Amino acid sequence: MVHSIDQQASKKLPSYSDQRASVSILGSTGSIGQSTLAVLAAHPERYDLYALSANTRVDLLLEQCLTWHPNYAVINDSSKADWLAIEFKKAGLSTELLVGEVGLDAIASDDQVDIVMAAIVGAAGLQSTLAAVTTGKKVLLANKESLVMAGPLFMTAVKSSNAVLLPIDSEHNAIFQCLPQSSLSDSTKKTAFTEIKKILLTGSGGPFRTLPIREFSEVTPEQACSHPNWSMGRKISVDSATMMNKGLELIEACYLFDCKPSLIEILLHPQSIIHSMVEYVDGSVLAQLGQPDMRIPIAHALAWPQRMSSGVQSLDWQALNALSFESPDLQRFPSLAIARQVANDAISSSIIFNAANEVAVQSFLDNRLSFTDIITVVEESLAKIPSSEPSSLIDIKTVDEEARRIAGSIIACL
Ligand code: NAD
Ligand code: MG
Repeated sequence: MVHSIDQQASKKLPSYSDQRASVSILGSTGSIGQSTLAVLAAHPERYDLYALSANTRVDLLLEQCLTWHPNYAVINDSSKADWLAIEFKKAGLSTELLVGEVGLDAIASDDQVDIVMAAIVGAAGLQSTLAAVTTGKKVLLANKESLVMAGPLFMTAVKSSNAVLLPIDSEHNAIFQCLPQSSLSDSTKKTAFTEIKKILLTGSGGPFRTLPIREFSEVTPEQACSHPNWSMGRKISVDSATMMNKGLELIEACYLFDCKPSLIEILLHPQSIIHSMVEYVDGSVLAQLGQPDMRIPIAHALAWPQRMSSGVQSLDWQALNALSFESPDLQRFPSLAIARQVANDAISSSIIFNAANEVAVQSFLDNRLSFTDIITVVEESLAKIPSSEPSSLIDIKTVDEEARRIAGSIIACL
């Protein structure tokens, strides 16, 4: 179990008492990227920032470069590169500017990099995250979509490169912390699935857990992006509102922990204080609790196998008057049933599930699609494309492109 993580104890990692570690952040201008910088800022004695990257938010990337003086900065949008280069020059910055996917691959795989935070949103993060994994980095995985699209290829690369793959998704980070530590620190001692009764993957239920279902079709992007507990990027916020996010996380967990979907139960926990649990056969249930703040899993993974401060306040037990749980309503959240089926299907289904969702969410955010039609687009895309088992990056990208094309044509007809 947890092949990726099992191998780690034997691997020499820069840490606390050890040498400094050099960090690249893929997606530094996003929600996870900014939280990562906040944690790094609190530990200047341990980490050097090697590279930052952004898609289009060039002002923020410049601001981050002026603060951090990284060796490299990557801007994906080439039309912004000249402006940024001039600003670097004006400021006398020695940061070298790279552009596009080639630049992302370079900062993910450079020999001088120890740790890569994979925090690009969506399929756009696949290639660079895979580059980090293939070159044996300590990879902090926020970009769940890359694992959903390319799980088998990804996990094979982790094993053969001896990369350290640590989950940043709060639920997966919690599960990782609740799994038997012997399986994480001794590669010869695999966790026996016979010891684990189930993994309880928790989710808040998002902003529409109690909204009357008849009102779903009128939901606006602003309402969908107003998550009750977490502050996140817009795509994952919409995914949380449809619970597609929990569906993606179910698939993500199967790859990360090398287990079958049937071992994983999804449980709603509206307060987002417990971040997931592992139930053992003797009836013991281990849970990881904490404030809903991504700096906790980020600090955990950066320092792992040690611990360091995340800057997050302790839980206030007196203020916590109730922790409640409920089973998800599959009529309200059809994405969960679809995800479970997809998790048991050919890998092409996961690619289509992810791609169609990305296209549909973008259309919804652009006010071109209703909230309820997001799931319609995903379901119809899955029905229209035959199953296959693409194993190379090129073949995975081909299925992804086909799914995007089909999803676009479905949206055009709705
Ligand atoms: P975000 O939208 O706030 O940030 C996305 C980042 O990706 C930005 O830096 C953006 O510049 C970059 N990016 C977007 N498209 C790109 C492209 N085509 N090429 C290069 N860079 C591109 O998203 P986020 O909320 O930080 O989420 C990032 C990832 O982390 C997602 O996969 C999400 O599912 C995952 N995640 C986020 C949270 C959270 O609390 N925000 C929690 C768990 C997992
Ligand atoms: Mg999560």
